[in-house]
Amino acid sequence: MADIRLGSTGIEVERQGFGALPLQRVPMDEAVSILRQAFDGGIRFFDTARNYSDSEEKLGQAFKGIRRQVVLASKTNAKTVEAFNKDLETTLRNLRTDFLDLYQFHNPPFCPMPGDGSGLWEAMEDARRAGKVLHVGISNHRLKVARQSIACGLYETLQFPFSYLSSSVDLDLARECAQAGMGFIAMKALAGGLVSNARAACAWISAFPGVLPIWGVQRMGELEEFLAFIKDPPTLTAELEAEIEKDRADLAGDFCRGCGYCMPCPQGIEINICARMSLLWRRAPPERFFTPESQLKMRRIESCTCCGACVAKCPYGLDTPALLQRNLEDYNAELARRTGA
Ligand code: SF4
Ligand code: SF4
Repeated sequence: MADIRLGSTGIEVERQGFGALPLQRVPMDEAVSILRQAFDGGIRFFDTARNYSDSEEKLGQAFKGIRRQVVLASKTNAKTVEAFNKDLETTLRNLRTDFLDLYQFHNPPFCPMPGDGSGLWEAMEDARRAGKVLHVGISNHRLKVARQSIACGLYETLQFPFSYLSSSVDLDLARECAQAGMGFIAMKALAGGLVSNARAACAWISAFPGVLPIWGVQRMGELEEFLAFIKDPPTLTAELEAEIEKDRADLAGDFCRGCGYCMPCPQGIEINICARMSLLWRRAPPERFFTPESQLKMRRIESCTCCGACVAKCPYGLDTPALLQRNLEDYNAELARRTGA
């Protein structure tokens, strides 16, 4: 097993963490089995959020009686003090605990700080003083907010998308966190489905000693792969490096990284999914991208007004409306082929 220390929090855990977002799509019994199996296999860090529907309740059920043997992290996207306090109480009740090891502001559009008028930082401090929260972190998709969270010196952890497809700017963030004594929690280590070689992803991330990946797990088979990394931590062999380079080359140029910096779209288009649909269905089992729900999401592209809001915010300089249109055309062609229409 390889342990990791999460910055100044002092939290030390096995370095494969568990991201509980996908558990909301799994029935309670199955989710509890997956979580118990994860615990038995050595995983100790579990990350959830108030707005992952019933994910917290599943963790609460799974870790009943062994609460102190796991590290529980959750998040709130509350915008008012009242909502913050309500979220915290609900989360504690769902997780069947009276404290959270780590409580994070969930992707706020600004970095909560003392005296900013929102009252959110003060509410977090009150919760910490009351012993309901041991450590404070922030998760974000925006570079600017991530940088503010490091510069202000208030936060103990940053959660940010991080994979071998990340830009050098994102890699700098992890280094800046290490220098500031902050823990860095890597979300989307498989780049939201674009990376299919989990072994390569794990080996690459292991080269960053202070980075804790939280692998999103929905099926027992996926979990088994990550548990195998605990017994036999992957290292960056020449073969894996070659695969990473191939992926980077395949995905070079105008591809959407799924970071979500450009969102929300006023038309409700899920840009971070729809603008890379062509890659997603070709690089992962395609069936799940052609469900009625996915088709609906893709059809929403037709409502794009080309307002340019997303273009102005994309750090990769993408012509997002054009990219969306190309993805829609490609998707419709494949859909027609599949349905024989
Ligand atoms: S250009 Fe289209 S996709 Fe982008 S924000 Fe405007 S409406 Fe949404
Ligand atoms: S269009 Fe740009 S900003 Fe939006 S999700 Fe894709 S890469 Fe990120």
